[in-house]
Amino acid sequence: MIRITDLRLPLEYPADSLSTAVAERLGITIAELLDFNVFKRGYDARKRDAIVLVYTIDVTVQDETALLATFSADPHIKIAPDTTYRFVAHLQEAPDLRPVIVGFGPCGLMAGLVLAQMGFRPIILERGKKVRERTKDTWGLWRKNQLNPESNVQFGEGGAGTFSDGKLYSQIKDPKHYGRKVLTEFVKAGAPEEILYVSKPHIGTFRLVKMVENMRAQIEALGGEIRFQQQVTDVLIEDGHLRGVMLATGEQIRTDHVILALGHSARDTFQMLHERGVFMEQKPFSLGFRIEHPQTLIDQARFGKHAGNELLGAADYKLVHHAKNGRDVYSFCMCPGGQVVAAASEPGRVVTNGMSQYSRAERNANAGIVVGITPKDYPGNPLAGIEFQRQWESRAYELGGGNYEAPGQLVGDFIKGIASTQLGSVEPSYQPGVHLTDLATSLPKYAIEAIREALPAFERQIKGFSMYDAVLTGVETRTSSPLRMTRGEDLQSLNVKGLFPAGEGAGYAGGILSAGVDGIRVAEALATQLTEANHDR
Ligand code: FAD
Repeated sequence: MIRITDLRLPLEYPADSLSTAVAERLGITIAELLDFNVFKRGYDARKRDAIVLVYTIDVTVQDETALLATFSADPHIKIAPDTTYRFVAHLQEAPDLRPVIVGFGPCGLMAGLVLAQMGFRPIILERGKKVRERTKDTWGLWRKNQLNPESNVQFGEGGAGTFSDGKLYSQIKDPKHYGRKVLTEFVKAGAPEEILYVSKPHIGTFRLVKMVENMRAQIEALGGEIRFQQQVTDVLIEDGHLRGVMLATGEQIRTDHVILALGHSARDTFQMLHERGVFMEQKPFSLGFRIEHPQTLIDQARFGKHAGNELLGAADYKLVHHAKNGRDVYSFCMCPGGQVVAAASEPGRVVTNGMSQYSRAERNANAGIVVGITPKDYPGNPLAGIEFQRQWESRAYELGGGNYEAPGQLVGDFIKGIASTQLGSVEPSYQPGVHLTDLATSLPKYAIEAIREALPAFERQIKGFSMYDAVLTGVETRTSSPLRMTRGEDLQSLNVKGLFPAGEGAGYAGGILSAGVDGIRVAEALATQLTEANHDR
């Protein structure tokens, strides 16, 4: 099969004439074009009055060799890479000591699925509840100001991204096409087929819930076991080798292989692992606010007369500003047509994040506006970043009035440095509510300074970005893990054999897709290690 990349067509180009465009590009007749399918469809909106669709298309022709020879100097016409997923092992019989996965977010889910597909019958332990019960608890915070520390936006079936926009793209290097495997499994479990070919796919929260349930059923059908409300509270390590895990219930599970797919919010578990001597180190992350604008403003600024075009959908943005004080300010986890969500997992703390439905049809666009920080800002042991996050999350709780409302301020007031007392034209979406105040003391001084400088600078890229009535809510602290559980080339912990730290919590992923990809990587490493160990016996 031949792949054409960067095939640029006007936005209005009729989809049913694609074969003509393909044949023209290849200089062949329609009859010579045996088959084709769209591998990716994106758009280039840099010139908003001349937005073009950008296709990657896989083509079958009669004489592939001749065609490739004709286009040998053309970087956009090449043999299509083979993206078929191949298992590294296949067991007829599960091992006596089954591998254990801690955490059932995207990383644990993909690791569990791949291990189950290879015949390893993994045991998956998740501290939170099944997704539908978890939804009720999450709404408990959003609607009744009641936080359940074990069942919330961070903890429970599906992991942190279950109540999210479900964006499924990533900038990771993926030479083995694991991302394709993740997306293919998601589609098999009910995600919309288009996630396989649009350049910035998303699922939206409702569809994610169903998809996660279907994947759980598949793992179970393959002999895997998923246990909910089973928090791992200790690990058994003997002579530098992992030998089992302890649960909060007092139960002990013996195993020689554990994938730790904890996410970035398992602070108590990080502390336990630190006390047990598992190697970990500090890592940079970011903190800041959520910002909300009318989605129509973003659509107009990005797409001009094409705003509302079905192929483009609700517009997103990606912004970066290098502030005079040396800090980088950037947009994070932008959710078009969505809402800001309460994402705390500890009592007495407030954390923001964002989510949307598949339709992205809500009134407001929201995004994190965050400032990069490094361990120099929170010196100390590997857990110091967590304490730093806690400090600002507690401050936000206090500034929000002490009832899980988020402290908020109009952008115009924030730039002027005066407290907000009244909302303007933008109605913030955060539930259980926004408490207007002055955000000047809600983050370190350097972060406030950098964001104050960045907002007007962003106006130059998106007209209206620093509009007076846009709303800031805070604080956004769970942007990525503040620590890394460093692993060696075999993907095992540097000092505990049999322990495979993985996903976002271990510092090896940032987002749903990359966490899923890392899950596959560690599952393969574990499978290889386990089968080789059996051969050696
Ligand atoms: P997690 O998804 O955090 O899963 C870890 C799991 O481990 C949790 O379910 C937790 O309960 C469990 N666990 C923790 N400790 C223990 C223990 N001791 N015992 C048993 N179980 C334990 N990313 C995107 O790519 N696109 C988005 O649109 C997007 N939106 C987001 C919106 C929100 C509101 C949030 C919070 C995050 C969003 N993210 C998004 C980020 C994304 O969700 C994470 O990057 C991803 O979920 C990380 O996957 P993970 O499997 O590594 O960890």
